[in-house]
Amino acid sequence: MITVVTDTRKCEVCNKKEAVMLCKGCGVPLCRDCYRFDLFAYGCGSANPLVLCSTCYDDIDINPYGAKRPE
Ligand SMILES: [Zn+2]
Ligand SMILES: [Zn+2]
Repeated sequence: MITVVTDTRKCEVCNKKEAVMLCKGCGVPLCRDCYRFDLFAYGCGSANPLVLCSTCYDDIDINPYGAKRPE
C-alpha cells in the first residue's frame, strides 16, 4: 500500500519540493526526487509496492531485500 500525500506539504528530505508520498518506514513526506521505490514480492505473482526514504531504504529491518546487508 502506498500512502499518498494529499495536502500540500514540503518534502522533509530536501525541503524544496512538494511531497507526494510518505515513507512507509518513518512516515516523513517525500518528493519524487527523494523517495525510493521498491517491490516486495510475496509468494508467486503478488508484490507490494514500498515507498521509502533513502535512510529507511538502507535499513535492513525495514527493507530486508533492498538494503545492504551488514557483513
Ligand atoms: Zn525531496
Ligand atoms: Zn523513512
